[in-house]
Amino acid sequence: MLVLIGSIILGLTLTLPIGGADMPVLISLLISYAGLSATSLGFTFGNYGLIMVGSLVGASGLILTRIMAKAMNRDFWGILLGNITPPEITKSSDDRSFYEGKIKTASAEEVASILEFSKTIAIVPGYGLAVSQAQQVLKELYELLTKDGKFVYFAIHPVAGRMPGHMNVLLAEVDIPYDRMKTLEESNELLPQTDAVIVVGANDVVNPLAREKEDSPIYGMPILDVDKAKVVIVIKRSLAPGFAGVVNPLFINEKTIMVFGDAKPVLSEIVKAYKELKV
Ligand code: NAP
Repeated sequence: MLVLIGSIILGLTLTLPIGGADMPVLISLLISYAGLSATSLGFTFGNYGLIMVGSLVGASGLILTRIMAKAMNRDFWGILLGNITPPEITKSSDDRSFYEGKIKTASAEEVASILEFSKTIAIVPGYGLAVSQAQQVLKELYELLTKDGKFVYFAIHPVAGRMPGHMNVLLAEVDIPYDRMKTLEESNELLPQTDAVIVVGANDVVNPLAREKEDSPIYGMPILDVDKAKVVIVIKRSLAPGFAGVVNPLFINEKTIMVFGDAKPVLSEIVKAYKELKV
């Protein structure tokens, strides 16, 4: 009885303080615990099947938790001890003054012209791609550019979106070739030689504050170094922050142009403008 009450208290204290978007980390940790308890049951009953399957689930859950913790800049041991602290949301009126007068915008036609002159193009998908369900039109743009002889690749951050593998699943759904999906490390090697980057509904995973500002909640999180490419095109609806709630200096970088709007219609307009350039 004491164990049951203790477990309920532990479960509640572990899960209640966690923000919705941090749930995937907790879920992978709980799956891992379930695996470990199956292993211990296996030892109790002398059941090798339970020991093997439980160890497999326990170990893979722990590995996934570690990968996610690293990519989200969370303390792995803190998570193991039940202390998942979501970043402080710092949405504020300062955001407006941070960006004021420093944003460059472009039309779909201007973006199409930039793409026409680019040989190597990276596409960075983020949470906004999932919200907009723009993967099909993104595939259309990818095919158009590839047919035109350009090298197009997808730079995928391990925690882009809201669950592990979120972007890979969206892109696989529309049959993007697997060899065009590049990991964080592969992308960061390619980005300095990339002519244009299209950031589609991503924010935190391309935020240079993670490299530069020690007191930022995302400081130390590995990011995609899109600012090392020649031109950065950012598609999002507004200047609203991402999950971490912080401003993004990428948006005021001299290389960056913003195209404001929902990702799906914006990408459709770019596709249309690109096709018109070619006739
Ligand atoms: P993000 O930082 O949350 O930014 C997403 C951006 O998408 C927002 O700034 C938003 O701006 C834009 N957006 C939303 N709807 C859109 C639409 N319909 N069309 C166009 N843009 C849209 O996303 P991220 O760069 O992918 O980073 C993921 C974040 O989630 C990281 O901080 C990560 O730590 C966290 N996280 C990830 C996981 C995981 O397992 N993947 C789990 C938990 C937490 P607008 O509102 O201005 O459009």
